Amino acid sequence: MAIKTRAALIVDYGQPLAVDEIILQDPCESEVLVKLIASGICHSQLHAIHSNTLKTPSLLGHEGTGIVLKTGKNVSHVKEGDHCIVTWVPRDITIDSPALAATKYEFQGKTYHAGVYTWAESALINEQLVVPLSKDVPSVATAIVGCATVTGVGAVMGSAKVKRGESVAIIGVGGVGINIIAGANIAGANPIIAVDLTNEKLAFAKEFGATHTINATNTDPVEAIHQITNGGADFAFDAIGGAITIPQVLASVRSGRVGANRGGTAVIVGIPMESVLLPKEAFPGGEKNLIGSVGGSSQPTIDYPKYIDWFRRGDLPLDKMITTIYSGLDEINEGVRALEKGEIRGRSIMVYE
Ligand SMILES: [Zn+2]
Repeated sequence: MAIKTRAALIVDYGQPLAVDEIILQDPCESEVLVKLIASGICHSQLHAIHSNTLKTPSLLGHEGTGIVLKTGKNVSHVKEGDHCIVTWVPRDITIDSPALAATKYEFQGKTYHAGVYTWAESALINEQLVVPLSKDVPSVATAIVGCATVTGVGAVMGSAKVKRGESVAIIGVGGVGINIIAGANIAGANPIIAVDLTNEKLAFAKEFGATHTINATNTDPVEAIHQITNGGADFAFDAIGGAITIPQVLASVRSGRVGANRGGTAVIVGIPMESVLLPKEAFPGGEKNLIGSVGGSSQPTIDYPKYIDWFRRGDLPLDKMITTIYSGLDEINEGVRALEKGEIRGRSIMVYE
């Protein structure tokens, strides 16, 4: 039986998002109908809103939590009434798995296709993007696990595999950056150096385990990181992906010594919007590593329960990371505006109903 729900959509580029009715059919074999509880508002969605590359209309949002309303007949990992995390990272595919099938929705009398979306009161989602969430865990704070946490904590644990005592620097300490810091803290990294442009954000970063902070408006972060680490960090994460910050993270990691060890690792987590020029001195001398991290190189089926355990133990304070809460879709355009203007200190979310 079809249901009517409300969602935020890009209908016309340059216009505010439309908040309008969409119609969802019953789940197909490998789909799950989810009533959303909460959804994060992620920076990468701003790129989507401004990119002019998505087809219109498009649904948005890719991290959230909800309650399972109905499941398709091939779905066995969640059932009606379960709590779940909605994420854009497939939960247990292999290299041979086929591309995830899109789901369908009806808008103003026409049928369209969608991938993941969470800026909606209910959503029809491919079962690969729905991960069970225990009912004894708060379902609002965990709304950011499906992107901010998996991207940030995953970059440290899954992509970089940081070990106890290794030095870490993070450029850009917004929603993803504070998750990188928290992940580095759980991994036992030391020092953990946070770099950003406002003292407010840097003070906030300390609450998640940053041992040192650098305000790049008045201090050269590369020089300062070399000083603090006595020669360069083992790992430097770029949570921005900018033309300035990518060369900075590469320059911030230590050089190796020929015959003894390789250099440090620069990890690009933020999504670059343009090509980036790297200085010729960067390679191959020093044997530095430059790697990308998408979705924290993680497998949600294995990794999300670990994040939830750390949250339970208080090591991963997701609730503290959420600094702005909007009441539902009617405030989504204000949420997008505030994120664009840099007014969000940690992560902002919408809570439905
Ligand atoms: Zn995201």
